[in-house]
Order: sequence, then structure tokens, then C-alpha cells
Amino acid sequence: MVWGAEGDNIKNIWFFSFIFLLIFSFLVFLLSIFDILMNVNVPSLIFILYMILFGAAFIIFLLSSNRFTFKENYIKTFTKTLYGGLYHFQCPSCKGIFAIKESMYNTKGETIITCPDCGHLGKISSSPPKTIGLIPEKKSKNVLFKCLYCGESLKIWAEGTDIYPKLKVFSCPYCGREKRLKEY
Ligand SMILES: [Zn+2]
Ligand SMILES: [Zn+2]
Repeated sequence: MVWGAEGDNIKNIWFFSFIFLLIFSFLVFLLSIFDILMNVNVPSLIFILYMILFGAAFIIFLLSSNRFTFKENYIKTFTKTLYGGLYHFQCPSCKGIFAIKESMYNTKGETIITCPDCGHLGKISSSPPKTIGLIPEKKSKNVLFKCLYCGESLKIWAEGTDIYPKLKVFSCPYCGREKRLKEY
């Protein structure tokens, strides 16, 4: 839920920037029309306004595209290896490895989870890319989560380090519901 709210805020910022740009462009356009019709000589002012408009559009474009590539990379790199009902992942933030054991094998939805190694919020796609990597010998104690809607249970532990104390799972990989899973 926290993750969803954050995503919406980001979207809103770009939406309002875009609306502001649209209104400003329309005003500049009206001023140009006024200039032509009334033959008032303000071309340099209009030129300056157009330059501001171009600048603003460029900055908004640059910022929004940066933001989206960052988000895309983040989601992709959160996912690493998997086999059977046991999945291993690597966090892009701390590079720590953790495991999720699902009770049912069919993953339909995304898993929104805080990293079991560092607590960083991330998202695992329903079909993460497979790669080969070493998994540390030492395993942390595991934590059990259950989806109250479909009964899916997830056993989660950190590999090679202690588990982050306040682990949270915000969506169910089996039924895809974006409801916080209950810890047992
Ligand atoms: Zn991490
Ligand atoms: Zn579920």
C-alpha cells in the first residue's frame, strides 16, 4: 500500500507539470494572436515566453524520463534466480540475497515486499528473469506470511545475513491482490 501511494504521487507531479505547461502554452498562444490582430508590437516578449516554454518542456521531459528509467531498472534488478516453488532474489539496493518459498507454485501477480536484508521497498514481477549465481550457505531464521484471501503462504529468509526485523509483504504473488499479507 505504501508503495502504491508513492507511485501515485509521482504520477500526480508529472500530470500537474504537464497541465501547467499546457495552460502556459495556451496563454502564450493567445498573446501571439492578440499581437497579430491588434498589431501591438511585442514580438520580443513573445519570443522570451516561447523560450521559457521550451525550457520548461525540456526540463520536465528530462526529469520524467530519468525517473521512469530508474523505476524500470529497479524492478528488473530486484529479480534473480528461481526454481520450483523456491525463489531466490537479489536486492538492487544492498546486493543481499534472500529466498521466498511459496506454498502454491503458480505465480500470477507481482510481489511488493521490503527487502529481507535491508528493508528497502521493491517489487518482484510475476515472471522474473532467471540468472545463475551463488547462494550463501548461512540462512537466517524464516518468517511466515499468509494471504487471507487465497490461503497462499510465503516462507521468507535472508541468505548469508540476519533477517531485517520489520519485514512486510504488500501483495500476494498467487492471487495478485494488493493487500498486506499477515505475518505468523
Ligand atoms: Zn536490500
Ligand atoms: Zn492471495
